[in-house]
Amino acid sequence: MATLEIRGLTVTVNVEDGTKEILRGVDLTVKSGETHAIMGPNGSGKSTLAYSIAGHPKYTITGGTVTLDGEDVLAMKVDERARAGLFLAMQYPVEVPGVTVSNFLRTAKTAIDGEAPKLRTWVKDVKGAMDALRMDPAFAERNVNEGFSGGEKKRHEILQMELLKPSIAILDETDSGLDVDALRIVSEGVNRAKENSDVGVLLITHYTRILRYIKPDFVHVFVDGRIVEEGGPELADRLEAEGYDRYLATQA
Ligand code: ADP
Ligand code: MG
Ligand code: MG
Repeated sequence: MATLEIRGLTVTVNVEDGTKEILRGVDLTVKSGETHAIMGPNGSGKSTLAYSIAGHPKYTITGGTVTLDGEDVLAMKVDERARAGLFLAMQYPVEVPGVTVSNFLRTAKTAIDGEAPKLRTWVKDVKGAMDALRMDPAFAERNVNEGFSGGEKKRHEILQMELLKPSIAILDETDSGLDVDALRIVSEGVNRAKENSDVGVLLITHYTRILRYIKPDFVHVFVDGRIVEEGGPELADRLEAEGYDRYLATQA
C-alpha cells in the first residue's frame, strides 16, 4: 500500500525576463489501487506537475511538499524517486541513442529492484508484455525512442510500467496522438497493471476520450496551476459535454 501526497505545491520556471509561477498550490493524494484523472485546458500546468514530481531540473519548487509513504520525494534524486516506486511517462519522451529497448528495460529493472532479474522469467515477462501490447518482437532491439512513432512511444511507456511495477504511475497525455485501436491497447495495458500490481495511477489528460477505457475513481479539474474542482467519474462526463469554459470564464 503506497500513498503519494502532494501538499501546497508551488512551482516556478525560469523564463527570459525572470521567473514565472506555474503551480499555485496543488493538493492531491493518490493511493495504491486508485486512479485519479487530472483534466484541464492546455497550458494549465499539468505537465509541470508531472515533471516537478519526477524531479526535472527546469522546475523550481518554491513551496509545499511531496511525499511517498511519508518519505520526502523532493529531497530524492531522480533515480531514487524511481527506486522508491514512482514512474513517470513523459508527454515528450526522450531518445536514448545506442541503448536498445531490451537493454534499457533490463537496466531499469535492475536499478529499481537492486538486483538483476532472473533471466528466464525476465525474458518471458518481456515477451508476454510485448505480446499483450501487440508489439513486434523486433521492437526490443531498436534504440529507445529513436524514430518511434507516437503510438510506439506510448506503448513503450506502458511496457515499462508493466515490467517495472511502480507503486504510483504518472501518465502524462498517454492518449495524445493515438488512434482508437492504439488507445484501446495502451489502455488495456494500464488496466492490466492496475489489476496485477495494484498501482496507483495519476492520469493527466486534456481529453475525456481515454476515460472511456480507463475508469477514474476521482477526477480533478486543473486550471491555471491549481485544482479548481474535484469529483467522481461523473465530472469527466460533464467536462466532455461542457468543456472547460465555465472554469475559464470565472477567472477574469
Ligand atoms: P499543460 O501540460 O497543462 O498543457 P504545462 O505544464 O506544459 O501545461 O505548461 C504550463 C505553463 O507553463 C504554460 O504557460 C507553459 O508555457 C509554461 N511552461 C512550462 N514549462 C516551461 C518551461 N520549461 N519554460 C517556460 N515556460 C514553461
Ligand atoms: Mg499541454
Ligand atoms: Mg502537458
